[in-house]
Parts: sequence; C-alpha cells; structure tokens
Amino acid sequence: MSRSAHPAGPRHADVMTEGHYTAPPADLNALDAKVWARTVTRDEDGAVTVGGIEVTRLAEEFGTPAYFLDESDFRARCRAWADAFGRDADVFYAGKAFLSRAVVRWLKEEGLNLDVCSGGELTCALDAGMPAERIAFHGNNKTVEEIERAVTVGVGRIVLDSFQEIARVAHIAQQLGKRQRVQIRVTVGVEAHTHEFIATAHEDQKFGIALAGGQAAEAVRRALTLDGLELIGIHSHIGSQIFDMAGFEVSARRVVQLLAEVRDEHGVELPEIDLGGGLGIAYTSEDDPREPHEIAKALGDIVTRECEAAGLATPRISVEPGRAIVGPTAFTLYEVGTIKPLEGLRTYVSVDGGMSDNIRTALYDAEYSVVLASRTSDAEPMLVRVVGKHCESGDIVVKDAFLPSDLAPGDLIAVPATGAYCRSMASNYNHALRPPVVAVRDGEARVIVRRETEEDLLRLDVG
Ligand SMILES: *Cc1c(COP(=O)(O)O)cnc(C)c1O
Repeated sequence: MSRSAHPAGPRHADVMTEGHYTAPPADLNALDAKVWARTVTRDEDGAVTVGGIEVTRLAEEFGTPAYFLDESDFRARCRAWADAFGRDADVFYAGKAFLSRAVVRWLKEEGLNLDVCSGGELTCALDAGMPAERIAFHGNNKTVEEIERAVTVGVGRIVLDSFQEIARVAHIAQQLGKRQRVQIRVTVGVEAHTHEFIATAHEDQKFGIALAGGQAAEAVRRALTLDGLELIGIHSHIGSQIFDMAGFEVSARRVVQLLAEVRDEHGVELPEIDLGGGLGIAYTSEDDPREPHEIAKALGDIVTRECEAAGLATPRISVEPGRAIVGPTAFTLYEVGTIKPLEGLRTYVSVDGGMSDNIRTALYDAEYSVVLASRTSDAEPMLVRVVGKHCESGDIVVKDAFLPSDLAPGDLIAVPATGAYCRSMASNYNHALRPPVVAVRDGEARVIVRRETEEDLLRLDVG
C-alpha cells in the first residue's frame, strides 16, 4: 500500500495513529459521490437516502447491521462495462465478490457472463437461470465432483490451473463423452495491487502455471493433445484493487507472446485471451478509479498493438470485474452502541456488527470511510476508529475517520463501498448472525439475502 498520508490538521497534530492519518474533510455531512452508490443522497431532514428511502426507515424495517444495495447502480455498472467492451469482448462478473440469485438475474438481464469458483457458486448461478454457456469455472483445486458437474451442465469454459487439472478435466470430459472448452491460467510474473505493480518474481503463489521456464508452453502442448479439451485461450489475473494499467500492459504483452509461440510451434492461433479482473474502486476520497470505457480502450489498444507486432489476428478479449461492479453499489448501515474517548488517542465507536460483516480491514488493512447517516451535525470533527462487537482487538471496520463529536448511541452510521467481499466473506464469528442484503430501487426495498437467525445457527449444530 503506497497511499500517502495527509498531514494532520493542527487540532489533531499531536494524535499519533498506526493507520493512515487523514485531515478531517471540510464538510462532515457531505457524501463524496466517488464512494457512494449513485442514488445515495441526503433528504431535507439530513438523513442519508438510497433509491429515495431514508436509512432511518430502512433501519426500522430491516434492522442493523445490514447491507443496502442500489440495484439501479448495479445494473448501470453492468451496462457500462458491457457497452465499453462491446461486441468483440466478453465481460464476466466475478461472482465471488458477491453472489445471490437476484444478482444472477440482473447479470443475465444486463447481458453479462459470470465467473464462479465453487460448486456452491455454480448452483446459485444455475438455479437463478444463468445459461451454462455464459459461466466460466475457476479455481486452483476444483474437486472431481465440481468438474463433473461443470462439464455435465456444459459451462462455457473451465479455466485450468495446474498440470493435474489439465489431465483431470480431459479425463472427466472424455468419460462423459464431451469436449470441454478450456483456457489455461498462466502467471505472467506480474503482481499488481492498488497503485503499484511488481514485474519480477511473482511466480511464488498458488494460482496458475508460470510462463517462466516454459511451463505454460508445456501446458498448452499437453492440452492440445487431449481429446477431451478444446483449448480456446489463455487466462491471466494479476491482482486486485488495481489503478495503474501498467500491470495489464505487461501481462497482455506476455500473454500475446505465448499466443505467438503457440502459433509458431503448433500452427494454431488461440482465439481468446482473458485479462482477469482486479480493477480498483474508490473506498475513500483519495482513490481515483478509472471508468470502464477508459479501461476497455487501454486494454483493447494494448492487445491490438501487441498482436500487430506479433503478426497475430486480435483475439477476443474477456475481462472479469467483480469489485468494480458491485463494490460501490452497497453500503453497510450500523447502529452506534458505545462511544469511548481515549484521551490523546482517538475515540472508539462500537457498532452492532464488525469483522463478521467486514473482514477486509482486519485481513488486508483495507481502508474505508464512514458518515453519520441518520442526521446531519454541525459539531466539531472527532477522530474515530469504528470497531465491531467481536472478542478481538483487531475487530476494526474503519481505522481512521472523522465523525461529528456529538455522535451518540443510537445514531446510524454508514460505511460506503462494502458491496464486494463483505457479505461474501462474512462469518459467524461469536455466533454472529450474518446481515441481510437489501436491494433498493425506485423507492422500494426488498431483501435479496435475508438476515440469519439463531435458528439458522442451531440448525447446523446437530448436537
Ligand atoms: C477475484 C478474481 C476476479 C475479480 O477480482 P476483482 O478484484 O473483484 O475485480 C477476477 N478473476 C479472477 C480469476 C479472480 O480470482
């Protein structure tokens, strides 16, 4: 993480924090459009609203903590990606960011494809009616049962991740009398995170088959000889929360080089390349993500240029945004329970959720912002850390933020940009009940994933 810290304002200059320290925003009541779903605003009473509904009403009806997802924003982002990439490319939504049957239906209606990486995600996708040919199956250790099911239902592609899997999928497909469309996932020696990318020595991780040392070329050689497989292309995914296109540039160049080698050796031009996902979103006002049309143009230009240089026809491109579609569309609403000012340090604000509904801060040192959502306030800013109710001091939702100093128990606060990797990574730690996801659209709110109940917990515990 290379985000630079802003100098502290004079009132807070003596405050030392281990996190990133930012000066208070000019207006604590303002909602920075960058980090909020498109329909989020404040009404005349000062309450935050989404899809025209005040959070105070939403909290009454659905309780807290809860995720509120702006359906029209989700659909608009799907369309923006589909339009940006056009007819000569395919957009696969990465289901692991957040998947539910409602989401699958929206994707289907908006013309997107879907990445899954487990039998559970595949079941959800098929149950909600996603055509199998629009599904890609990923993962570094798919079980035999998962592969059998994927091949049987006829998923559009399986992305092969190891030499064993090449043989395994080929064998299963052959036994089932099928020829499965596959891509080979390669590691291009590039790893990108946020504002940095590193272009050496990143073969040291579990995914894919290294281009280095001719391993990927060997994988292609094997796949081309196996009757059960139809090799349609090469896949690469270089990281997450990426803002800098330089990593994709190196990745695309190396993948195209492999296509040229394959043509030279086998006389085969593989028709597709998949450049993965990982496009960054704004979690705080300091992040500046690119728009889908800029990303599509940048990637298209890179691939076209590299293919021209290699004398190859431009392959069909696919991309796999997860976070960039769902991340900005939802926020988490919490109720403030206790407020503990620590003299000379900061004020700890405890909410009714925590690491069970947002593990990203603890897991990745992720940054989030927060606002007082049930009302506005003109009180002075106070430096806060928003923490959960779990038995863990690392149970932090927002490391450093400013909230009005008249904050009181019972106030509702909202953390934006929690649509991706929050509900999907939620846990039952401390027997917490995982929060619902409520879709809001045009003045109507409906639960798409309901809140867990204590009965749900006991049902799994068979005594
Ligand atoms: C996780 C993942 C994605 C999506 O990543 P985002 O950061 O959500 O865009 C896409 N493709 C693959 C193979 C992944 O593992």
